[in-house]
Amino acid sequence: MTFQHHHGSSQHLAIADHLLKGEDVSFIPSPNTSGAFPSGLPDTIVIHFTAGSSLSSSVNVMTNADNKVSAHMAIGRSGEMVQMLPFNKIAWHAGKSFWKGRTGLNKYAIGIELDNAGQLTANDEGEYMSWFGGVYKSKNVFKGVHRNQPSPSYWHRYTEAQIMRTFALCQLLCQHYNIHTIVGHEEIAPERKVDPGPAFPLDKLRMRLLGNTTSASDLAMEMGSESTAMTHGNQRSDTAAEDISLQEEQEQGAVQAVVSANKLNVRSGPGTHFAKQGAALYAGEKVTVLSVRDGWANVARTSTGWVSESYLAMVEDAKESK
Ligand SMILES: [Zn+2]
Repeated sequence: MTFQHHHGSSQHLAIADHLLKGEDVSFIPSPNTSGAFPSGLPDTIVIHFTAGSSLSSSVNVMTNADNKVSAHMAIGRSGEMVQMLPFNKIAWHAGKSFWKGRTGLNKYAIGIELDNAGQLTANDEGEYMSWFGGVYKSKNVFKGVHRNQPSPSYWHRYTEAQIMRTFALCQLLCQHYNIHTIVGHEEIAPERKVDPGPAFPLDKLRMRLLGNTTSASDLAMEMGSESTAMTHGNQRSDTAAEDISLQEEQEQGAVQAVVSANKLNVRSGPGTHFAKQGAALYAGEKVTVLSVRDGWANVARTSTGWVSESYLAMVEDAKESK
């Protein structure tokens, strides 16, 4: 795979009147909308893969009134972007879905679809097949464990250009709208959906964009490094070089942390004024860090909640990559 240098174009994205402007950005309107978001919304981004064979075929599907599906954006494998609905209009991408007390996420969320063939199966020739009969070489295949599945399987890789442009778009959306939640379709419809899957660095995206406004950001920035234990206050590595290695970092596994306090309360939000939620955590327990905000880490064990981040020691979990 040849890496296309999209740094420049990524940084020249802008939003005017709810429309994206920039290099390799086009607008192909979709009729599939239920009208404007209520005021204060959208506040959520949902990431998807198309499970399609090309950007144009997926855009055709989402702009045809018969199909009753749409998304705000589709991002191709060279980083090219197609907007189908302005960001102030409700699109139809989430379907039956739920997240933190909400149902039907379409009415809260911007939908971003990435051109990707999805989950693949190995054939006898050492190649990999998509559901629609596409054939992929091993260099374009990611082996990893899906968050909703018990064992590793094969996934079409995203390109670096695609990931970098997705990060740039989400960053811009966070600046223009009141975005506080970034989720995968697989998280809001776990019974039905597996997108964007383990090949997409979703936890990294969340930490980068939702956990980067306080001193906790230094910690978030360091989480992808190869050290086995990290403490707060290491030097930042917010560089282009780090951006380029996003996908590799994701392949090394999820960000995990070990509880360092004797007993650590789990709360429903990032602050001591939020109610305690479920059982406390104890020293040595391992959790997955989903995001960091205002000195608080949103962590997962069997359920999620917020704990004081200063009582966590971050570790890099060297989960299998291939
Ligand atoms: Zn989806």
